[in-house]
Amino acid sequence: MPDAPLDCLVIGAGPAGLTAAIYLARFRRRFEGVDGGASRAALIPISHNHAGFPDGIHGVTLLKRMTVQARKYGTSIRPGTVLDLRRQPDGSFVAKLGEDLIPTRTVLLATGVVDREPELPEVPGAIQRGLIRHCGICDGYEIMGHRIGVVGQGSSGLHEALFLRIYTSDITLLSLGTPLALSRDERRKAEEAGIVLVEELVASVSIDGDRVSSLILQSGTCHVFDTVYSALGSDARSSLVRPLGTTLDDKGCVVTDEHQRSTTDGLFAAGDVVRSLDQISVAMGEAAIAATAIHNLLRGVPAPPTPIDAALSFSPEHLDRERSDTLVGTHAA
Ligand SMILES: Cc1cc2nc3c(=O)[nH]c(=O)nc-3n(C[C@H](O)[C@H](O)[C@H](O)COP(=O)(O)OP(=O)(O)OC[C@H]3O[C@@H](n4cnc5c(N)ncnc54)[C@H](O)[C@@H]3O)c2cc1C
Repeated sequence: MPDAPLDCLVIGAGPAGLTAAIYLARFRRRFEGVDGGASRAALIPISHNHAGFPDGIHGVTLLKRMTVQARKYGTSIRPGTVLDLRRQPDGSFVAKLGEDLIPTRTVLLATGVVDREPELPEVPGAIQRGLIRHCGICDGYEIMGHRIGVVGQGSSGLHEALFLRIYTSDITLLSLGTPLALSRDERRKAEEAGIVLVEELVASVSIDGDRVSSLILQSGTCHVFDTVYSALGSDARSSLVRPLGTTLDDKGCVVTDEHQRSTTDGLFAAGDVVRSLDQISVAMGEAAIAATAIHNLLRGVPAPPTPIDAALSFSPEHLDRERSDTLVGTHAA
């Protein structure tokens, strides 16, 4: 183990980790990035809602540009997965990367989330393969007037369907063989919004180019779609910090204060892994705040204490709920 600990170890080099790297490098901090190579941003065919790119930008292109910018200031990003993170008696950390032990004074966790894949017959990894969309906030605008299928269960599935209602009136919510588990009130909202509910198992799937184009149910009924979304949610990649006793929310996301500080001293978090809106711009903003707070902490200017508000939630589900309450019955599209 080298003698001098890093100022910071940035775990993850998606939009959050790379933004933090650019900031920390320009703050002349001694840090390293480590990345497992599975950024969600790499799955974006083209993003039209990321500001500054009026013609849209491919996720991989954005990551490449950010990596070039970080490297321009001498940033080292090592490929690999941090498998273990321990706290030392003096409050610093030691991370394990392969056989290497990396001592560091602070850590920025920017590890993102993993999307839950729908179980479609003979179509494994449909989200990873780009056959199914995942984020109405990201690309709902592009499906204006389309025939939409939403794979989802329970209230969160309905929330996504209601969220998409401002773009189209042709929406079918499919639970793939499990009961939809909606309350009477939720079923009423679905009916008022003209959302078709389907609880039957899917027997087969048709793919047309880069999209799922129809789902054939066990009864033989065929539902044709222009676009299919998944509303099954995601799992936070926060298992590294669970043993540290860091506070996580009920979805496993790291709870932070307004300076991106977790409840573990010296451990900061930014991006999708944090309880917030899963968007590139949010990941970048949180990373800028975290990097600045880390720099200030290391130069002896601790941020003022702020309460960590466990009740605050910016999850899409929460936003959907607010939005659906105002939408139902308005025949938006
Ligand atoms: C299909 C799709 C389309 C999207 N479209 C848009 C859009 O149009 N606009 C928009 O704003 N957002 C969009 N998003 C969301 C956007 O991709 C995410 O919000 C963004 O990538 C989050 O950045 P992040 O850095 O927090 O996480 P990620 O980009 O997921 O990066 C996390 C990185 O951490 C690494 N990592 C994880 N664990 C470890 C470990 N233990 N050790 C080392 N490395 C680790 C991973 O390998 C990964 O590279 C889309 C997402 C998807 C899936």
